[in-house]
Amino acid sequence: MRAVVFEDYQTFPALTDVEAPEPGPGEVLLKVAGAGACHSDVSVYHTFEKGSPGAQKPPFVLGHENSGWVERVGTGVSERIKIGAAYLVYGPIGCQHCRQCVQGKDTYCENAATMPYQAVGLGRDGGMAEYVTVLAHHLVPLGDADPVSAAPLADAGLTPYHAIKRALPHLQGGGRYALAIGLGGLGQIGVQILRALTGATIIATDLRADAREQAEANGAVTVPDGDDQVEQILEKTHGRGIDAAFDFVGAGSTIATAAGAMAQGGALSVVGIGSGTHEFSFFTNPYESYVTNTYWGTVSELWEVVDMYRAGQIRPQVERYGMEQALEAYRRLEAGEVNGRAVVVP
Ligand code: NAD
Ligand code: ZN
Repeated sequence: MRAVVFEDYQTFPALTDVEAPEPGPGEVLLKVAGAGACHSDVSVYHTFEKGSPGAQKPPFVLGHENSGWVERVGTGVSERIKIGAAYLVYGPIGCQHCRQCVQGKDTYCENAATMPYQAVGLGRDGGMAEYVTVLAHHLVPLGDADPVSAAPLADAGLTPYHAIKRALPHLQGGGRYALAIGLGGLGQIGVQILRALTGATIIATDLRADAREQAEANGAVTVPDGDDQVEQILEKTHGRGIDAAFDFVGAGSTIATAAGAMAQGGALSVVGIGSGTHEFSFFTNPYESYVTNTYWGTVSELWEVVDMYRAGQIRPQVERYGMEQALEAYRRLEAGEVNGRAVVVP
């Protein structure tokens, strides 16, 4: 079958032929409906060196945002998993036995340090192919909802949802302000989730004017890029500052912008893996404010994200690419030319 393969560190992926996988015990073979191209993949194949934090060992098929139809099941899979039905795939895979994994919180696996990292499309073969094998209990049913535009929900939906849920207490109480920086795959869905879950004023920014316009259509007010960005953000909060900021870039400059606009007691969530750093000390930050990073999400949160999708509260904006155009999707992602999320439809 055709597949997009991460062959070596700091090497653009290859579109090549690989053998179709077979489902092992407890696994399902999915015929892929859609596989989203996430910016983290660019870090995996372009930025990370062998041994650097976050680096995954090649080779494997890329694609960690996947949906598809069940083609075949391995031994021991429940009859409730229906052949031909459409599902979304939870990507993180922990040991499956610790306190966290048995709750579907694979990102918090207590044995991660002593295991090879094996998430779908990030260590083990992913969905940028005609078929992928996944754990049956990591499937979330999509019912009759469109499986192709659902694919990004597996990461570009789940990751902002998880970050926003953790920060929700900061957005309750009325008169609250949220900030979203970086309005690509994650950021656009993040704005939709903030709109659906809170009444907060959503302030959003991106280098790209078209991304800002899209965020406005999703219910945000925007500020352009520029040296006076912090002042512009503060003005939109009438001087109060931001109660919960979500940095979907994570560069030094974006963290500084978010930190510079925080309210007392506010929370800054660094979601983007731009490797920026931030000084935190008693006098350099608003009193009783928080800085956190967040990583992906849990199985039950993915069920919640699918509910919001089926209810029309999340509407991923997708560009569709055929398998033979899959590498073009990554070229456009690197160049900052994708609107919303590029999804490969094999
Ligand atoms: P994307 O390429 O789709 O979108 C990034 C957006 O940020 C683009 O619209 C771009 O114009 C904008 N941008 C870039 N630099 C900027 C700057 N300095 N100021 C303002 N806007 C800027 O990327 P994505 O797939 O949405 O991923 C976003 C980030 O989140 C990446 O770093 C990715 O690796 C990371 N990520 C983290 C997790 C996690 O679990 N924490 C999960 C998925 C992705
Ligand atoms: Zn575990």
